[in-house]
Amino acid sequence: MMRVKKDYESLRNKAFTVFNTANKKKHSVIYKIEKDEWCCDCTWNSLKETHCSHIKAVIKKINSKKAEKLVKKLGI
Ligand SMILES: [Zn+2]
Repeated sequence: MMRVKKDYESLRNKAFTVFNTANKKKHSVIYKIEKDEWCCDCTWNSLKETHCSHIKAVIKKINSKKAEKLVKKLGI
């Protein structure tokens, strides 16, 4: 399981820490707002062109938060 924690948000970046409870490893994920680009410090992300599981976990969390807000707004 991936635990996502938001570290900070600035005008240029959004930073998150992703903790993998399976192997107890932590990774730093940064979203560069201007470039619309995701970065992670894991080896997968530097080797492959695709998003690693840490970045995906952050995106998933953001999307589920957005969905929650929408549900509240619509009162479903
Ligand atoms: Zn990663």
